[in-house]
Amino acid sequence: MTTFSNQQEGQQYMDPSETLSDVLQSQTTNIQNSRTIVVTSGKGGVGKTTATANLGMSIARLGYRVALIDADIGLRNLDLLLGLENRILYTAMDILDGQCRLDQALIRDKRWKNLSLLSISKNRQRYNVTRKNMENLVKSIASLGYQFVLVDCPAGIDVGFINAISPAQEALIVTTPEITAIRDADRVAGLLEANGIYNVKLLVNRVRPDMIQRNDMMSVRDVQEMLGIPLLGAIPEDNHVIISTNRGEPLVLKKKLTLSGIAFENAARRLIGKQDYFIDLTTPYKGVFQKVQELFFG
Ligand code: ADP
Ligand code: MG
Repeated sequence: MTTFSNQQEGQQYMDPSETLSDVLQSQTTNIQNSRTIVVTSGKGGVGKTTATANLGMSIARLGYRVALIDADIGLRNLDLLLGLENRILYTAMDILDGQCRLDQALIRDKRWKNLSLLSISKNRQRYNVTRKNMENLVKSIASLGYQFVLVDCPAGIDVGFINAISPAQEALIVTTPEITAIRDADRVAGLLEANGIYNVKLLVNRVRPDMIQRNDMMSVRDVQEMLGIPLLGAIPEDNHVIISTNRGEPLVLKKKLTLSGIAFENAARRLIGKQDYFIDLTTPYKGVFQKVQELFFG
């Protein structure tokens, strides 16, 4: 069983018919079957948290067990986007301090019980999680049977970034079609590779087809070609994103999906391999995605 630096992992209850080796075997299998994906960008405010909440919710709705980790300490807001801000009693810091068990700090979403949220810390002063702590936390989450762990990374490339990427085997780089965000995304791509994360995908957010048509904004294709990272999806600029943030209800939960909600759902499907990973930029997609594609790529 994985142990934290100063505390044994939360109590485990065993079925009397199970042997210890059965339990260990199933935990190992769980860890092997789990994917840890860090959502990162370099530049702040480009949509990492929005993407983490919506992709996480979509994947949970597709039937997988998903844990979201809010590693953005100072600007913690994943809880707000999910409407879970009043339910956080414990954070990862409390687990590390021996104040609670992992399952007490993992907050379950009321709407989708297979979606959970773990915040690292409630305030910046108490932030002293190490890479090893992060890796052990993620291993323990995976051993509980979570198939996806999405880590919402802080902006920048300092210690918070390095800690957040350390447990991940995969990364999603979020950028907007602006040169400053693209440059930071490129820098982050280099750092991910230097840290052994080669499975990287791109999400282009806040795309404005009207501006692209007027040649006032780079197209998704331009952004993708500049960065040379496989495209997972493109999300339009949409006021509903702000409305959904204020309501604490991810876009993908709306009964009548908006274009950005559809775009997030498509990205989630590609992430789990239910839809092609790579968007073919030359052949139009059919159905709803075709609509999105036409808007972006003309
Ligand atoms: P980050 O986590 O990278 O700092 P956020 O997800 O918090 O970024 O988003 C920053 C701001 O941009 C938020 O106010 C959010 O509502 C807004 N935003 C993000 N994506 C979109 C979008 N596609 N359309 C409109 N507003 C968006
Ligand atoms: Mg954020």
